[in-house]
Amino acid sequence: MFYDQASISVRGGTGGDGSMNFRRESMVPMGGPDGGNGGRGGDVIFIVNKKLNTLNPFQYKRKFEAPDGKRGAKQRQTGRSGKPLYIEVPPGTVVRDAITSDLIGDLTHEQHLLLAAKGGKGGRGNATYATAHNQAPRMAENGAPGEYRELALELKLIADIGFVGLPNAGKSTLLASLTAAKPKIANYPFTTLQPNLGVAQIDSSRVVVLADIPGLIEGASQGTGLGHEFLRHIERTRVLIHLVDGMSDDPIRDYNTIQAELAAFGHGLADKPQVVALTKMDLPDAGASFELHPEFVAQHSAFAISAATGKGVRELLLRAVDVLDSLPPLEEPELLPELTLEDEALKQFEITRNDDGSYQVASPMLERRAQITRWDLDEAVQKFQRALENSGIGPELQRKGVKPGDMVHIGIYELEWAEG
Ligand code: GDP
Ligand code: MG
Repeated sequence: MFYDQASISVRGGTGGDGSMNFRRESMVPMGGPDGGNGGRGGDVIFIVNKKLNTLNPFQYKRKFEAPDGKRGAKQRQTGRSGKPLYIEVPPGTVVRDAITSDLIGDLTHEQHLLLAAKGGKGGRGNATYATAHNQAPRMAENGAPGEYRELALELKLIADIGFVGLPNAGKSTLLASLTAAKPKIANYPFTTLQPNLGVAQIDSSRVVVLADIPGLIEGASQGTGLGHEFLRHIERTRVLIHLVDGMSDDPIRDYNTIQAELAAFGHGLADKPQVVALTKMDLPDAGASFELHPEFVAQHSAFAISAATGKGVRELLLRAVDVLDSLPPLEEPELLPELTLEDEALKQFEITRNDDGSYQVASPMLERRAQITRWDLDEAVQKFQRALENSGIGPELQRKGVKPGDMVHIGIYELEWAEG
C-alpha cells in the first residue's frame, strides 16, 4: 500500500578469459608460460542517494549490466577489471530476490552500499599453472560469468511528516499548496486507501515526504470509517502537523477529538511530536477565532496559516522539519548479508534421468566450473575432472547405475562417463 515498487534485473560483468601464451625470444624455441589472468567482471552495486524519493526511474530502465573484464595477455598481463556499475536508489529501498522474495538488503543509510550482483572472476592464465614438474602448462581458464539476479525493489514511503485533523480542516489544501509548484512530485501508483503523499522541497538538496492522512474522525480508533488503516499510516510518520479548522465554532474541541483518537489507538501516536496550526486565516472569522484562543495558541505554539494565500505555510513546514531533524535517527538496519558464490548451497547437487536414459546433474558449483573450463585444453579438462571427483557426484552416479559410455549432462554440458 504505502509502496513504490519496481522490478529490475542485474548482471555482473563476465570475467576476462585467461591467456595461454609462451614467451618468445630469439634463439629460444619456446619460452616459459606467460599468459596473464583475465580481469574480474564489474560488480553491480546499489548506492543510496538521499535526494531521491521514488523508484519511478526504474519504470524506464530495468536492466543493469556491469562491464566485462578484459582478457589476460602475454607477459603475464592481467586484463583490466570491469568497473562497478552503481545504481542509485532512494533511502528506504528494500531489495528482494524477485523469485524467492528473500531479503537481500535494506538501504536506509546515507551512502549505503549493497552488492547486487558480483562480477565473474577472471580466468587464470597459463603463467599461474607452471609448476616444477609442469613448466609448460597448456592450460588456461575462461572468465566466469557474472552473477545474475532478478530483483524486486520496494520503497517504503516513510512520510516524514503527516497531516492530521478533522475532515475539512484544510489538510489536502495545505498539501497541495506546499507541493503543487514542485514539478518533482512523483506519480506514486497508489491504490484507494492511500494517504495523499507529496514531496516538498526544503532547499536545493533536501526534500521531505508529506502525507495528508484523511479519514480521522471520531471513532476512528474503534475502526469507524477506515480509521485503523489511517491510524496505521500515521504510525509511520515521524512528526505530525495537526491542523485545526480556523472556521470551526470550537477549535479546541476539534483538537481534543483528534488527540483522543490518537491516544485511543495507542502505539505512541499521541506522543508523536506535533506542530499545531489554525487554518484558513485569510477568512476574517478564522482570524477572529485565532485571537479568541490565546491560551491554546500559546500552549501549542500554534501557527496561523492560510493555504489559500500561502501565508504562514512555509514557516509551518520549516518548523516541522526542525522538529524532524531534532529527532534521533531511525534505528540501524540489520547487517546486510554478503552475497557469495562460494556458498555451501552451490555444492549441493541433484541427479535425475533424462528421457533418453542419459543422466542429468544439477549442480550450481559444477555448472559454474564448466562455464570457465576451456574444453580445448586438456589440462583445463583435467582440472574440471578433479572438481567432478571432489564433488562426490561420481559415487552417486554409480549408485544410480551409470556405466562407461553413458552420457552425463552437467547443466548444458555433455560428458561421456568413462571411469575405470
Ligand atoms: P481536508 O478535509 O482536511 O483535506 O480539508 P480540505 O483541504 O479539503 O479543505 C476543506 C475546505 O476548506 C475546502 O473547501 C477548501 O477549499 C477550504 N480551505 C482549505 N484551506 C483553506 C484556506 O486556507 N482558506 C480558505 N479560504 N479555504 C480553505
Ligand atoms: Mg482531504
